[in-house]
Parts: sequence; C-alpha cells; structure tokens
Amino acid sequence: MMVNFSTFEENVARVRERIAAACEKSGRGNDEVRLLPVTKNHPAEAPLFAARCGFAAVGENRVQETAEKRPAFEALAKTADLRWELIGHLQSNKAKKAVALFDRIQSVDSLDLVAKLDKACEAQGRAALPILLQANPGCDPAKFGTADLGTLKKLLEAVLATRHLQPEGFMCVAPIDDDSLLVAAKAFETLRDWRDRLAAEFALPLTELSMGMSHDLEPAIAAGSTMVRVGTALFGERVYL
Ligand SMILES: *Cc1c(COP(=O)(O)O)cnc(C)c1O
Repeated sequence: MMVNFSTFEENVARVRERIAAACEKSGRGNDEVRLLPVTKNHPAEAPLFAARCGFAAVGENRVQETAEKRPAFEALAKTADLRWELIGHLQSNKAKKAVALFDRIQSVDSLDLVAKLDKACEAQGRAALPILLQANPGCDPAKFGTADLGTLKKLLEAVLATRHLQPEGFMCVAPIDDDSLLVAAKAFETLRDWRDRLAAEFALPLTELSMGMSHDLEPAIAAGSTMVRVGTALFGERVYL
C-alpha cells in the first residue's frame, strides 16, 4: 500500500537527510545529487504527491503503466508540469510509444533501440530526446546493459551518430548483496570510471550518473552519483498483485 501524504513528506525529509549526510561524508555539495521519486506500481496519487512536494520529475519503469498514469496525473493535478523519465528496460518495439510519453529515457542499452528511438523522433517531429546509456558494471546476469566498456563505447558512438538522441550520461542498477554494500560500491565506482574515460575520449560532459536506490544510495553518492532513484523509501513497499 502506498503511504499517505504526510508520511510521504516525512519520508522525503528522511531521504534528503541521508543524501545530505552522504554528500557531507564524501566532500560533495548537497546540490550535486538530485532525488528522483520512483512512482512505478503506485497509482496517479504518487506523482501527484511528488509534484506537490516540488519535485520536477518522476521515474517509471513501464511504457503501458505510464501511458495510463501520466494522463490520470494530469487530470488530477490540472497541470502537465512534471517530467517523466523511463528507468526500466525498453523493448525496441515500444520505442515509438516511449518517445511519445517520456521526457528522458535512462535505459538505452542496445544498438537496435538507439536506431528505433531516433527513427521514432524523426517520425514524431521530436527534435531532441535526452537519454542515458544503461550499463551493467556489476556484471549481474539479472540486469540489463552491457558489462563491457568497449561495447558501451560503441553504443555511445551510435548515439552520437543519430540526429535526435542527446546523451547526458549513464545509469546502472547495482547487484544486490544482502550482507554488504561493497559489491554495489564497486559497481558504482566502475561506472564512474567508465564515464570519466568516455567523457575524456569524446570530449563530452556526460555529467549525469544515475546510480543508487533506496538501499544503496550512500555508496552511489560516494562514487559520484548525480541522481538517486528512490521508490520504496518514499512511497512504501510496492504491492504486486
Ligand atoms: C524500482 C526501481 C528503482 C527504485 O527502487 P527502490 O528500491 O524502491 O528505491 C530504481 N531504479 C530502477 C531502475 C527501478 O526499477
């Protein structure tokens, strides 16, 4: 069940304290890390709560769910003033729908998807689609994205050769290890290193590092995360019916 609004506000304060403490510990400024509320598996009230708390964007992981939730939110909020980011795996046959629905796509992970997204932008007259490349620096077989820097470089080259895709950085989901955050920390450090190398090689900023969730945002921030994607710690446990 989703939390009520006052609990959500308390949770936002608590997560912001965690972010501030993690920034402090690694000598980073508080304003270097943004919080993206993840509203997946929750009703249209979840993005409404986020908008009421002043958040500019939310994260969702499914095209179909967002196709229903975004208009429901806009009817409730009486505004369309919220950005929607896709953080879940995108099948290339849903590229058209995703381009029509999302302000940014964080989960670009294949050459085929790059080509289909660019084609959909062209067809829909969308000049620019901001994207992140999803990688799998922890080599977790259960995660999407490449675990190989050479392959990630080829993907970036393909994005740079498109007319409409604008690469802003990278995203990853770390492997889960219930006993220790060291495995997650290592994955985050690897992605940060890959970003630094590719940014230098291509002389691009690639500033966004979308890393860290409810349980591992501290090691992500220590490794250089600029955006933590948080669902459970803000909205409560998701119920899968
Ligand atoms: C669900 C999800 C999150 C949020 O996870 P929590 O553990 O609920 O904070 C973050 N990133 C991605 C890619 C997700 O699918």
